[in-house]
Amino acid sequence: MANVANCKKCGTLFLQTSNRIDVCDKCFEEQNKMLSEINTFVMMYPEDTVSLDMILEKFNLSIDEFETLFAAGKFVKIAQKVTMKCAKCGKIVPLAGKTNMLCSSCTKKLQNEI
Ligand SMILES: [Zn+2]
Ligand SMILES: [Zn+2]
Repeated sequence: MANVANCKKCGTLFLQTSNRIDVCDKCFEEQNKMLSEINTFVMMYPEDTVSLDMILEKFNLSIDEFETLFAAGKFVKIAQKVTMKCAKCGKIVPLAGKTNMLCSSCTKKLQNEI
């Protein structure tokens, strides 16, 4: 049975599909376009690394949106070239292989606390 939901981004009602439950067709397409623009931007960037802050600012993206997309595996291709600031200690670390927005030592600390 088809489920109707409100798009997380623009609020429009849309039909959910098995692989898309959060945004409408239009926002999904826009998101895809933005993703390829980000990928191109990072790959063409003349320096060895690009900071995540710069990407967020350039593409007007919030860290939450980025995290969601990153968790969905959308930035695998460019993760090697992107650096992020640890949300806890502020250390600049490579994004590649990350599952959250923390550096590896803060992740370890967090795991030890649990
Ligand atoms: Zn939408
Ligand atoms: Zn840290």
